[in-house]
Amino acid sequence: MPQPVLREIQCKSILSKSGLSDYSLNCYGGCGHGCVYCYARYMEKFRPHPEKWGEFVDIKVNAAAVLAREVKKKRPGEVFVSSVCDGWQPVEAKYGLTRECVKILLENGFKVTVLTKNALVERDFDLFAAHPDSVDVGMTITTLDESLAGRIEPAASMAAQRIAVLEKAAGLGIKTHVFFGPLMPFITDRQADLEAMFGELRRIRPGRVYLDKLNIRYGVWDSLCVFLRSFEPGLIEKYRKILFDPGVSARYAESLAERSRTAAARSGMESALVPCF
Ligand code: SF4
Repeated sequence: MPQPVLREIQCKSILSKSGLSDYSLNCYGGCGHGCVYCYARYMEKFRPHPEKWGEFVDIKVNAAAVLAREVKKKRPGEVFVSSVCDGWQPVEAKYGLTRECVKILLENGFKVTVLTKNALVERDFDLFAAHPDSVDVGMTITTLDESLAGRIEPAASMAAQRIAVLEKAAGLGIKTHVFFGPLMPFITDRQADLEAMFGELRRIRPGRVYLDKLNIRYGVWDSLCVFLRSFEPGLIEKYRKILFDPGVSARYAESLAERSRTAAARSGMESALVPCF
C-alpha cells in the first residue's frame, strides 16, 4: 500500500459531541490503514481531498493546545478515541498527538474509550495503567487470516499483534474490550471464523465483545465492489442482496446473530457478547 499523502493542518476544535460516547476525539483527518469497508469515508463529503480515502492523512498539529483549552470549558465525560480515524495509525508514531491528548483528558477527569487496529497503542499503556478506572482499551479484529487482513485492512497491525497487545493490557490491569466488525459476509463471518476469533479471546477475557455486521454507508459500496471484483467477483451480487434487499438483509442479520451466539457460547463468553445490530 502506498504511503498516504500527509498534510499538517490547524484545527479550531478537537473535542466533538458524539453519538458513540459523550465526546469523540480525532487528531487526524483520514486514516492510513485504508480498510476497504471504512465507514469514516463520509468525511469526504465535508472535506474533500484530491486523493482517495485511505491515501491521505491530515495532521491536526495544534490538537493538544486546542484540547488543553477545551477541557477547561467542557463538562468531563467519556471520550471515544477515535471515531472517524484510527488514533494510533502509523503517522501517530511520529506525531504523538493522540498520546498527548489522551494524557490531557485523563489529567482533567475525563474517561477514555480506545478503539484501534494498531499495536502502537501499547506505547501508551503507561498512561492507561496510571488511570485504570478511566480507560478501556479496545481492539477491532475482523479476521485472523493475515493474508486476507493485508487486503481488507492493508496498513493495520496483524491480528496476532493486536491480540498480544490486548493480552498485555489485561495483564497490566487495564480494562479491555474487543470489536468484531464489520464482518464481511462469506469472507470473515463464517462459523469457523467466529469460533476461531472467540477462541483467541479465551485467555484475555475482555469485558465485552461487540460484534457488528457490514452496513452501507457513504462511499462503502463502491469501495467494496472494487475489492470484491479482485477477490471473488461472484460475491458482488450476493452482497448487493444482503446490503440492499430488506428481506435478505433481515434474514442475514438473524443468521449472523445466531452464529455469533453459538460461537461465543462455545468459548464461554456468551455474557460478554454485545451484538450491535
Ligand atoms: S482503521 Fe478505522 S478509520 Fe481507519 S481506515 Fe480502518 S475502519 Fe477506517
